[in-house]
Amino acid sequence: MTKRAYNFNAGPAALPLEVLQQGQEEFINFLDSGMSIMEMSHRSPIYEQVHNEVQSLLRELMGIPDSYKILLLQGGASTQFAMVPMNLLPAGKVGAYVMTGSWSEKAIKEAQLFGETAVAASSEADKFNRIPDLSAIKLPDNAAYLHVTSNETIEGTQYQTFPDTGDVTLIGDMSSDIMSRPVDVSRFGMIYAGAQKNLGPSGVTIVIAREDMVLASPKNIPTMMRYETHAKNNSLYNTPPSFSVYLAGLMLKWVKAKGGVADIEKINRDKTRLIYDTIDQSGGFYRGFADQGSRSLMNITFRIHTEELEKQFVKESEAHGFVGLKGHRSVGGLRASTYNAVPMESCKALADFMADFQKRNG
Ligand SMILES: *Cc1c(COP(=O)(O)O)cnc(C)c1O
Repeated sequence: MTKRAYNFNAGPAALPLEVLQQGQEEFINFLDSGMSIMEMSHRSPIYEQVHNEVQSLLRELMGIPDSYKILLLQGGASTQFAMVPMNLLPAGKVGAYVMTGSWSEKAIKEAQLFGETAVAASSEADKFNRIPDLSAIKLPDNAAYLHVTSNETIEGTQYQTFPDTGDVTLIGDMSSDIMSRPVDVSRFGMIYAGAQKNLGPSGVTIVIAREDMVLASPKNIPTMMRYETHAKNNSLYNTPPSFSVYLAGLMLKWVKAKGGVADIEKINRDKTRLIYDTIDQSGGFYRGFADQGSRSLMNITFRIHTEELEKQFVKESEAHGFVGLKGHRSVGGLRASTYNAVPMESCKALADFMADFQKRNG
């Protein structure tokens, strides 16, 4: 069998071997159609079945209420940064954002192009090493919504619980932790996520939204940017990213076969515990970046006391078959992304490598 890397890439990221193998088996002749899924009409019954199954698996696995639409879009989460305010931030209202790091900063920047925004809480003074106390969140009186980034991929922080926003719609960018743990979808007006971290390959963006959020979009924005266009056409207004949707479907079936999202969370906790424990028991050789109470199950960020050693760590790790352990260029240090598809075996190997590296350099 092919040798697989210990893949800790931040995104696009590891996919389960079983999913890749099934994709390979079905690649040339999908369901005896005599063609690959990439070669068939997105109006064909075979494709439509795949498309609808992705939505129904998402609904089942995440417990999405019937009153929510599930859209399969393109343009990544970055396009959602703009679509959210274009559709949901009318004049006279304020888009409120909790600033937790790099991605929430990008989200608010886009909203500033369209309307009034407010920072409802921020941990910038602590270099974004934690999620702000939920009690510190201040909603403006005329808030259109509160936007949160459930997991900050670059800093490695994650909400442990979500704020109660009363009548104000809560919107969540869950690009880097969707399906990694159970979430009460009904507390959100909208959840969106690019698929390429936890749900499949790049190319498809999932939007889960209460019907009232997506069925009355402003008429004066481009057709493709209106949620209503996609909601009313089952995300088949134009050509969908059919191959990405198909692979996301295989990934969802894989999650289901693992027992569902609650079981996946348990596995994720076991995986990350190995690595966080190695950091905590290193006597200060490794230092976790995130505050203990805000630690992410998806992106483990840490440092070693000199940049020299960090460079050496990356170099040696690569020689040992590890990929993707260099921190994001904006924060430096080291980062291990442990998304759903990263196997326990990779995490065990990393914990062992870290202990060994410390022994040799501590
Ligand atoms: C990766 C990421 C994005 C950007 O996603 P694209 O699909 O590349 O636009 C946005 N938000 C978060 C939290 C991310 O991790």
